[in-house]
Amino acid sequence: MKLVVKYGGSSISTAKDIQSVAKNLHYLSKHNKIAVVCSALNGTTDDLIEISESIEKENKSKAQQLVANIINRHKQVAKQTIKKSDLKKKLLQQLNEDFDELVALIDGMVLLGEVTPRSKDYLNSFGERLSIKLVSFALRNHGKKSSSLTGKDVGIVTDSNFGESKPLMDTTRLRVSKTLDLLFSNNTIPVIGGFTGADQHGHITTFGRGGSDYTATIIGACIKADEIWLMSDVDGLMTADPKIVKSAKLLKEVSYVEAIEMAMFGAKQIHPRTFEPLVQKKIPMRIRNSFNLDNEGTLVTSSPGESVKNTVKCVSYIHHNGLIDIRGGSMVGTPGTAAKIFSTLAKAGINVMMISQNPSESSITIVVKNNDLDKAVNALELELLGKIIKKLEVTTDMAIIALIGSGMRGTIGVASKVFSSIEKNKINVSMITQGSSELNLSFVVKNSDANIAVKAIHDEFKLDKVN
Ligand code: ASP
Ligand code: MG
Repeated sequence: MKLVVKYGGSSISTAKDIQSVAKNLHYLSKHNKIAVVCSALNGTTDDLIEISESIEKENKSKAQQLVANIINRHKQVAKQTIKKSDLKKKLLQQLNEDFDELVALIDGMVLLGEVTPRSKDYLNSFGERLSIKLVSFALRNHGKKSSSLTGKDVGIVTDSNFGESKPLMDTTRLRVSKTLDLLFSNNTIPVIGGFTGADQHGHITTFGRGGSDYTATIIGACIKADEIWLMSDVDGLMTADPKIVKSAKLLKEVSYVEAIEMAMFGAKQIHPRTFEPLVQKKIPMRIRNSFNLDNEGTLVTSSPGESVKNTVKCVSYIHHNGLIDIRGGSMVGTPGTAAKIFSTLAKAGINVMMISQNPSESSITIVVKNNDLDKAVNALELELLGKIIKKLEVTTDMAIIALIGSGMRGTIGVASKVFSSIEKNKINVSMITQGSSELNLSFVVKNSDANIAVKAIHDEFKLDKVN
């Protein structure tokens, strides 16, 4: 099989983890052609982001302290991971070159006192640039031939939308397949840095947080992989958060569309664009735990088998949201009201998670993250209060509960089962949404009611018997 195996930061955060990853890859490579994709070591990207924030706040010493920590940690891990002394020396030499460039970049940013989206992407790319060397050398320490390549090295070409770039797939496909075919024919395992690419001018770009998942599927589509594995520290997608529902089960198989809905919630967050490169090529993906290889994980396919077409697959929640009820008589029958509200919020940089409007048109209710609530209400008050809006009513600390499953489509009685089980637990529902795809039924309750609601629905739909 041709496999793309992607490791999240939590799977490669210590020397011990990297050694066991290398051992496992060594074993897998006996029967498969493998391309490895790596995230940064756990927490490194967070630290790099904090460095740019410190530079923006003119806190040079904080930036220097953070970079010193990154350098020390990678040196330590390198020394502990690689046993062969010649290899260890070579790795440290290569890492030192990266460290010099990283320090020079930070000095430059400090001198300019300026952090641009382009310099931020360049800075944030260092996490993966370092981690791939550790993993690639660990493979070499195991006697395998291996090369480390950044997104730019492997041939991922993107637009110049720094911080949220998209690949130019045709150019990327040509370049990536050429680079990797050469390495495969040479029996060399490529270890590719996730999250980054380069635009047509050669400037480094990133796909946004969690972008290594996206790199894995881009690479998979380019080389027509048979499967893509996303390895992290969770077993796969579950019927509910096992911290809340003891009887929660691992989902053995879900469809792409279901996985896209589930990606927003739960323990394994997946970059939202991850599935795009797969859908056309219908490449199956597995979500697996690098610490529990006996477990097959969750298989994500274009057409799951008959036996797994349950109505509801899982019930998830997102805590700590704010609900804003926007009212006004002049909203009724006035074209453009919703456009004004949403463009005001967009200008303020607010992401809206849920929307509902009744046919009476006298109110629109939206849900945003608690952290965005202040900014959202402020923007709406400044721009629209007294004009199209009469009144804003705000409720904090609300939870979204979402039922996901493509089998809900056309199934009669799902909503009645949901709300009667909620009613039995005397929980008040503040808002409900369901798109016409019927893939996701979501409603909003108080944070303090969320756990009971999740348990009640898990019981009601007997999700412990799923699969
Ligand atoms: N290292 C990047 C991040 O933490 C990309 C990734 O982990 O997928 O966001
Ligand atoms: Mg990560």
